[in-house]
Amino acid sequence: MGVVTRESVTSDCTRLRVRFVPWSEAGHYTNVQKWARLFNWSAETMWQTQRPRIYHPSWVSDPLDHWQTVAHELVHWRQQGPTRLPTWWWCARYGVSSDFRWRMEREAYLVNIAFGMTPAVATDILQRQYMITVPREEMIAWFEAHHGV
Ligand SMILES: [Zn+2]
Repeated sequence: MGVVTRESVTSDCTRLRVRFVPWSEAGHYTNVQKWARLFNWSAETMWQTQRPRIYHPSWVSDPLDHWQTVAHELVHWRQQGPTRLPTWWWCARYGVSSDFRWRMEREAYLVNIAFGMTPAVATDILQRQYMITVPREEMIAWFEAHHGV
């Protein structure tokens, strides 16, 4: 991963034609709220990538003020690209499979680690908030082996 700045994230979003949508304007928001409940997440605070859109909390007026979060979401953007599977399938799989969540989020959390989060904190978040059941030592070891690469 090269140096990620607000400027590089902004130009990536322009190049990729990312469409930022506040949840208040998402027609399927009721379904997303149900989906979020699987994780005891509040959909009001959640960011979610469903190409070609990145949904964000309605109180966020400029998503690029949260460019570090957007950089994390752009990892999911790339993940959703080459599969050619519908995005709803990606989200469904994400919802049901701890292993799939781990494989998707570990790449995205490398971004958070590049911004200063420790592998131990990333592991705590993934276990508690994402209900990923991979053993803690295995997760930390993966982050240690892959961050800064
Ligand atoms: Zn993520």
